[in-house]
Amino acid sequence: MQLFIATTNTGKLHEYQRLLADLPVTLRSLADLPQGLLEVDETGTTFEENALLKARAYSAQLGQAVLADDSGLVVDALDGAPGVRSARYAPTAEARNAKLLAALKDVPLERRTARFICVAAVVVPYPDGALTAAAEGRLEGRIAFEPRGTNGFGYDPIFLLPDGRTVAELTPAEKDAISHRGKAIARLKPILLTMLRTAWQGD
Ligand code: IMP
Repeated sequence: MQLFIATTNTGKLHEYQRLLADLPVTLRSLADLPQGLLEVDETGTTFEENALLKARAYSAQLGQAVLADDSGLVVDALDGAPGVRSARYAPTAEARNAKLLAALKDVPLERRTARFICVAAVVVPYPDGALTAAAEGRLEGRIAFEPRGTNGFGYDPIFLLPDGRTVAELTPAEKDAISHRGKAIARLKPILLTMLRTAWQGD
């Protein structure tokens, strides 16, 4: 059986390839497909809505099991921004980080609290419908005053952990062990395994 990871973000894809390496499925990315799929607009107002929207739409187009995630950064001093709009906050990762640091220029460390949130959703085709599940994971921290570190992707260089390191200063294994995505997958994996077994038996 194949499981498609519905993301074009290579940082996310590498994390899912590590986090799902022990599943008895062949992992595929949308980039493996010869012809372009219809892109799914993220019109939801919550991470869960968007993750389910993507997983359902791609699974329906492909007729295959699909895992999709919606994730982002929620900053308390900005009333939760950039939130579900994290990918659209500015055109590049560097520009997004610079914009966030500028928006928090005068905010002291104790009020720079923030969290990464990830909702991972899976849809597995099944006779007469589809099996669907979703799980959330969070990582609490603060926004740094300047970017640091070269690992990871996106907002990792400006996300400060309680031990003083940024997420971009963690090894991949260290990030997987504490990350919002790692926690969402740890919760989802047993449910996903049951769904895949159910679908195999239903074939
Ligand atoms: P989307 O889930 O594809 O809509 O994008 C989420 C946005 O949050 C992108 O800008 C990502 O770079 C960012 N993001 C999501 N997860 C992480 C992470 O683990 N580290 C850093 N940035 C992240």
